[in-house]
Amino acid sequence: MNDRHHASARRLALLRAGLAERGLAGLVVTHLPNVRYLTGFSGSSAWLLVGRDMALFATDGRYEQQAQEELATEAELEVSIARDGQLGAVAERAAKEYAGSEVGFEARHLVYGDWEKLREGGAVEWTATTGLVEGLRAVKDDTEIEMIRRAADIAVSALRDTLPLVKGGVTERELAAELDYRMIRRGAEGPAFDTIVASGQRTALPHAQTSARRIRSGDLLLWDFGARWNGYCCDLTRTFVIGEPDARQTGVYLSVVAAHEAASQNLREGVPGREVDGAVRRVFGSEGLEDRFAHSTGHGLGLEVHESPRLSRQSEEALVRHMVVTVEPGLYFPGWGGVRIENDYVVNLDGAALLADLEYERLQSLDE
Ligand code: ZN
Ligand code: ZN
Repeated sequence: MNDRHHASARRLALLRAGLAERGLAGLVVTHLPNVRYLTGFSGSSAWLLVGRDMALFATDGRYEQQAQEELATEAELEVSIARDGQLGAVAERAAKEYAGSEVGFEARHLVYGDWEKLREGGAVEWTATTGLVEGLRAVKDDTEIEMIRRAADIAVSALRDTLPLVKGGVTERELAAELDYRMIRRGAEGPAFDTIVASGQRTALPHAQTSARRIRSGDLLLWDFGARWNGYCCDLTRTFVIGEPDARQTGVYLSVVAAHEAASQNLREGVPGREVDGAVRRVFGSEGLEDRFAHSTGHGLGLEVHESPRLSRQSEEALVRHMVVTVEPGLYFPGWGGVRIENDYVVNLDGAALLADLEYERLQSLDE
């Protein structure tokens, strides 16, 4: 028995309590990160039916051995290796156990064709649900926090190793490849998402795609990157300047630092996501720059790079101890460029702790 198995049994118990509260007899889980969270299985094809006193895990023949190795046996999962349709095994079992009862499905993650097959069995009262497992995932246990911290350590040291390669003439894409390579060499499973390297005016794109543009003197250079370790993601952004910064570059950078500090000082248990977002908007608003901030302040982080909670204008959800969130204010000026600074934090009762040790307080120059 190991920690992972204990975690799985505990998570299934919490989910069952949530189902009972909502009057659901069971839940069909189709979102793979949710399946992984509940069972430990990291493959790319699986269905899970969680009932009051049973759980059926179904995958296909390709994953027979992997399921044996990864599944949390303490969680008392029944395993079905369906050569021709895991969906059939789950639908059949649900119809048998829960005829006439309400069983949930994940409305945001069930493909229409699968839904049609699922309801063919009749008998079950299928009920759309959202966020049942995601709500559990938002609050991390100590092991999960350690994994995100480890991912962040890998990403930070990989960036430090890559920065000396920055010089005039190198392309964004070459730099992204060098960073990805170094993250993997340091133990990452891979980048947590497509690494963004944006330079010059392209830094004004809040979600730029790395291009073949060549770096040159005077450019802002933005990296939005993260490593994945044991399934867990980190998500960091740093902005540098090639050569000496001009006054505008320094000024914009310091505004973003101030917004970042205002937001991170608001991170603690009980504060609604919108208040953290509001702290950023107040700083930018006081300089007449709020409309240059084109996205929200942050998001949860874990098995997925964007998960609950959200730190946005609409987010009423209050932060809870051991949520892991990003804070990532930015300012974007089309035709000029942009600056974003993103860090990852663990929320605590009276504040928040940084998960990565990578300086950001002043605009750093890289050699031309
Ligand atoms: Zn990011
Ligand atoms: Zn992010």
